[in-house]
Amino acid sequence: MRSTGRLSKTSGESGNTPAPNDAPLTAFDRTALERWLATEEIPPYRCGQILRWTYQRGATSYEQMTDLPAALRQELASRVPLHVPELEERLVSALDGTRRYLWRLSDGVTVESVGLPAGDRLTVCFSTQAGCAMGCAFCATGEGGFVRDLGPGEMAQQVMLVGADFGQRVTNAVAMGQGEPFAAYEASLGGLRLMNDPDALGIGARHLTISTCGIIGGIDRLASEPEQFTLAVSLHSARQATRDRLVPAMRNQSLPRLREALVRYTGKTGRRPSLEYALVAGVNDSPDELDALVEFCRGLLCHVNLIPVNPSTNVPFDRPPLDRAKEFVIELQRSGTEVSIRSERGSDIEAACGQLTQRHASSSGRGAAPSA
Ligand code: SF4
Repeated sequence: MRSTGRLSKTSGESGNTPAPNDAPLTAFDRTALERWLATEEIPPYRCGQILRWTYQRGATSYEQMTDLPAALRQELASRVPLHVPELEERLVSALDGTRRYLWRLSDGVTVESVGLPAGDRLTVCFSTQAGCAMGCAFCATGEGGFVRDLGPGEMAQQVMLVGADFGQRVTNAVAMGQGEPFAAYEASLGGLRLMNDPDALGIGARHLTISTCGIIGGIDRLASEPEQFTLAVSLHSARQATRDRLVPAMRNQSLPRLREALVRYTGKTGRRPSLEYALVAGVNDSPDELDALVEFCRGLLCHVNLIPVNPSTNVPFDRPPLDRAKEFVIELQRSGTEVSIRSERGSDIEAACGQLTQRHASSSGRGAAPSA
């Protein structure tokens, strides 16, 4: 996995305090910010003030943080600059109110987020990387390749900005936008912790979901974290050859090993992961595929989310008829596995992962690569 390093300096085993003049505020999670303030002999309570201004009040500059001394504001602005993503494009679904966003970050890269309203609930799907190296066969983001990891604050900002656009508190956030969260584990956990932090977004840990293609080391690490974050695994097939085709980056992690990791995870946490299964006509919707999925899930604490794939102009896959998805539901339920069909949202605004970036790239000629 390629990494810029610059934005991955967060807390944890491999975390370091970002060097002065070397990282924006969004590269810090709370622990790293506290550590940096300590090295500068700045009182620790300033950390909460900075977080509240940045992630609750949406400050766009340190000048707005009026309860910080002027000298400290100047110091922070020169050494830990505050950048806020610029809205590049915003689409609103006429069908269900889903809103899709394309943000341009301080170095010119673009990332996507989606806001999914449902009554009092507002779920934000955010990106953890610009682009993605995983190359999943049905994904427009994977097709465009990897650009860079995002910092924890760049993830939290997406959630904050979507909530502000709706004028509504964000109740749930899912790392199911662009990127493989476990490919940048420290930054992703730092992002979730900012979302969970009462001084930042204050979203309950169980309402924060991290989604992986199935990186076993990440699943094992997440099982050891103190927070009760929710795990989702993109399975897409329980037959090795089909999964290797759909999720090629996971070829070296066999399905039996993945299942063992899930057994360890559920045994250690008692929490139920969801298994994401993008149903693709003629690829993973056959009776053999269904049998394999039933066997994979048998006796495993899990919830299967069936997602009829979103047709894309960039990816040559179609969704199966709804009746086929219902057959999957019936057989999984018969075997004792919880299952649901995820209702399609925002189909009129290209709401599948990476589709807006791809369309924007082809129409503007800029794409997700840094412009500077
Ligand atoms: S589905 Fe997710 S992990 Fe796979 S290529 Fe797309 S963004 Fe990356």
